[in-house]
Amino acid sequence: MDNRRPLLAAVLGNPISHSRSPRMHNYWLKKNKINGYYLPIKVAPEDFERVIRSLIKKGFSGVNVTIPFKLSAMKIADECSDIAKYIGAANTLTFTEEKKIYADNTDAYGFINNIKSKYADWSPKKGSSLILGAGGASRAVIAALLSEGSNKIIVINRTIEKAEKLKIQFENKIKVESWNDLNEIAASSSNIINTTSLGMNDESFIPINPESIPKEALVSDLVYVPLETKFLKMARNRKSRTVDGLGMLIHQAIPGFKNWFGKTPVSTKELRAILMK
Ligand code: NAP
Repeated sequence: MDNRRPLLAAVLGNPISHSRSPRMHNYWLKKNKINGYYLPIKVAPEDFERVIRSLIKKGFSGVNVTIPFKLSAMKIADECSDIAKYIGAANTLTFTEEKKIYADNTDAYGFINNIKSKYADWSPKKGSSLILGAGGASRAVIAALLSEGSNKIIVINRTIEKAEKLKIQFENKIKVESWNDLNEIAASSSNIINTTSLGMNDESFIPINPESIPKEALVSDLVYVPLETKFLKMARNRKSRTVDGLGMLIHQAIPGFKNWFGKTPVSTKELRAILMK
């Protein structure tokens, strides 16, 4: 019998009931026969730091943080990874043996590794990348593309001022264009990435003409409910290569699991099916 204490991790957010992280990590714990638990914890914003400190005392290995704690997590961390600093937000905290907090952001890693797991030869160095959206997910995708050597990134967002702020944050390494020029810009892009919430639950859609999606482009959607958004379906019908958001969700979770539970988990068809239930 294994008498060692179980390894513990959690996801903190508000709300939290929608999070698929507990299902994912508990699936991996079972598959890898690891004595551990991963719990969802709803936290009031004013209690965030207190809850983190108490989890450290209780011996937790680390936590994921989601909305609205991605910035607070950076503030209470003793050390932040370069990519978390670059993105300006953290989603993965690891508690060290010295009871220190190490903050990382694994969204950029998840975005890139998800694409490469499907298209190993993909690189954003060739051609230009069009990112729709200028929120938190957009920041991670910009950082990911820049770290992969992309030198032509265009961001368009409904609220252009937010995209302009990203241009400053990323030291003019991106270009900002008008939402009204979406079709024209898409037509000359090699990568088109939706980081807006448009398409979620099939309740809205991206106002793009199918003919504007180049057949040679790689089209990604970060929305994963539904798994194939209208945008991805449009791209598939154009015979473009497509990448869904569920893969990114799985890939961004891999570094945290490895840090806390000591094994590198894998993305499987079975896991994808469990997460889509
Ligand atoms: P966020 O910071 O709130 O940003 C939302 C973005 O969507 C903004 O650019 C916003 O534009 C745009 N938007 C919302 N409603 C719109 C509309 N009706 N028309 C045009 N644009 C609209 O959210 P986020 O954290 O970046 O997340 C964005 C999406 O990515 C969500 O669906 C989230 O679930 C998904 N996501 C997926 C993963 C994954 O692993 N697959 C990871 C992170 C995020 P304005 O600035 O004009 O409001």
